[in-house]
Amino acid sequence: MASKFKCRCGALIRKNLYEGSGLRLLVAEELTDVASESTSVDALLDRIVAQSPIVAICSQCGLLAIVDDVDLKVVFYAPVP
Ligand SMILES: [Zn+2]
Repeated sequence: MASKFKCRCGALIRKNLYEGSGLRLLVAEELTDVASESTSVDALLDRIVAQSPIVAICSQCGLLAIVDDVDLKVVFYAPVP
């Protein structure tokens, strides 16, 4: 998948982490359940980053996009007025 995608308003949204785009990760609770494992912090962070969809908010229109690189899809959500 490309490093950016187009919002419904036409703005380009970058989806590369750690490039100052203000992205977030949508972390499933199961990923943080490590009570029974001896997982290192680095391995845990790698797993969270690899398996969590990216959440981006368009700076132009405020639309929220959830980007799932595993399923190669982007789903948009609009704020309720
Ligand atoms: Zn937009």
